[in-house]
Amino acid sequence: MLGFLWQIWYNALEVIVMETKDAIRAFRTKKGLSQDELAEKVFVTRQAVSRWETGETVPSTDTLKELSRVLDVSMNALLGSPRTLICQCCGMPLEEDSLMSREPDGAINEEYCKWCYAEGKFVYQDLETLVDFLTGHMAGETMPPEQVRAYLENQLPKLRHWQKIKK
Ligand SMILES: [Zn+2]
Repeated sequence: MLGFLWQIWYNALEVIVMETKDAIRAFRTKKGLSQDELAEKVFVTRQAVSRWETGETVPSTDTLKELSRVLDVSMNALLGSPRTLICQCCGMPLEEDSLMSREPDGAINEEYCKWCYAEGKFVYQDLETLVDFLTGHMAGETMPPEQVRAYLENQLPKLRHWQKIKK
């Protein structure tokens, strides 16, 4: 578990954050809505819209549904296209179905990797534990632990699982 793993995570997290913010701004402008007007329609503050569009945060799943209705585009389109499917808890790219989690009844849950969500339960109860674990596995000679940790602490809270918990 060396530098390459870090690079894969890094790329995946950059892609999702960047594309979502660009997509929201683009669809909002196309509809001729100001940040204020969109905020009102999806029941959030203008600051929240502004934070999505600067990439500071991403909308929760519920808000994405509202945005999809108001802007008349799919949730997938709002998340950027092509969307890189990543675990919404740890940011791991989910390139194969075999990496995805499953519900207790066997149905695939494509929101999470199988290490973060198993048998209907989330493995990591808090962000700190997850950051510790990932930092331990990803840090290497090219990427010192402090740097990996700082990056993950900044990016992981943007993923939907941690957004939901914050609410
Ligand atoms: Zn995960």
